[in-house]
Amino acid sequence: MPASSTPVLNILTLAGDGIGPEVMAGTRRVMDWFQSSGRMRFNITEGLVGGASYEAHKTPLTDATLAAAKAADAVLLACIGGPKWDQLPYDVRPERGLLRLRKEMVLFANLRPAIVFEALADASTLKSELVAGLDIMILRELTGGIYFGEPRGIETLPDGSRRGINTQVYTTGEIQRVARVAFELARKRNRRVCSVEKANVMESGVLWREEVTKMGAAEFPDVELSHMYADNCAMQLLRRPKQFDVIVTDNLFGDILSDMASMLTGSLGMLPSASLGAKDAHGKQMALYEPVHGSAPDIAGKGIANPLAMILSLAMMLRYSFSLAADADLLEGAVKNVLAAGVRTADIAAPGQTTVGTAAMADAVVKELGRLS
Ligand code: NAD
Repeated sequence: MPASSTPVLNILTLAGDGIGPEVMAGTRRVMDWFQSSGRMRFNITEGLVGGASYEAHKTPLTDATLAAAKAADAVLLACIGGPKWDQLPYDVRPERGLLRLRKEMVLFANLRPAIVFEALADASTLKSELVAGLDIMILRELTGGIYFGEPRGIETLPDGSRRGINTQVYTTGEIQRVARVAFELARKRNRRVCSVEKANVMESGVLWREEVTKMGAAEFPDVELSHMYADNCAMQLLRRPKQFDVIVTDNLFGDILSDMASMLTGSLGMLPSASLGAKDAHGKQMALYEPVHGSAPDIAGKGIANPLAMILSLAMMLRYSFSLAADADLLEGAVKNVLAAGVRTADIAAPGQTTVGTAAMADAVVKELGRLS
């Protein structure tokens, strides 16, 4: 049992829809292990989001659940959506719940690691020697830039032709807050940041580069900073992905580069993510941890979903919300060993390889945690 001095971690879990409850149940087994081994104490509140919330409350996110998310030390969310809710009006569709959560929690920094476990290197579309052991982090600015900038819209010109407009806008404050997350992340990793923009053709990119450079020199001289144009970065990610540690970039380039980097790893069922907000005066930071995958309606209810993306999201929570690096290392090490031992859910199995279900994969991780600790 945990000692009474062990800090209590207040977690809101939102299992959501489809395979969500299954992968969340697997992750809860891992949380139970951490608790019963005395390493940490969880105070877990369960909530509804997406279609599950719509069924109960006719809205994909209630105000009460939003308040619980803001009050929690961290939120663990599985996934939302499914064909059952596809015909609903736009405002009450499952994804509106998730978008509202991200917006109201002001989660401006999206962390997408691209990690290739040696045992799965053959699943990548790139040659395995290029990706085996890959461990990079793409940090995407999530609430600014061209997806939100004004003016925007489609207008008809005097000659009858039409013009579509979007505006790339970044303020120094928006750049600084995401740059700070990048430098702090790098300090927890290999102390290297590559800042990505197109300063050669965009003024917002010039400002981005100036602000990141200024902050690096003034506050993070111990972190090596480099700059790269976004088109070159795309090329380098395919050519020599292991050259990077932390990549920080804007909303648009981050959208594209993070999807590219995640495909280097070859499997959706393995990819965790984190979205972070600003730290308040007491150092508390809003944070949401979730797998990259969706609710996989095609396999929901069958007990065969891969829980590792969700379990690795838990590892990110331990590392980034609670600075429990040793525990995060332990959990990631357990996942690595389980994969090395050939335990596979169907999505990551080679043809003919024996597979296990969601619960058995989670149990294999728990067993390995016990062996390693
Ligand atoms: P998806 O990620 O749900 O599934 C894509 C494919 O990957 C499917 O074949 C699925 O079976 C497989 N897959 C995904 N996660 C897996 C796992 N953990 N283990 C094994 N296989 C896994 O994407 P989709 O099919 O485009 O979308 C399905 C629903 O999910 C839609 O309603 C969509 O809106 C929603 N969605 C939600 C999120 C989210 O919650 N953040 C993200 C993407 C899509």
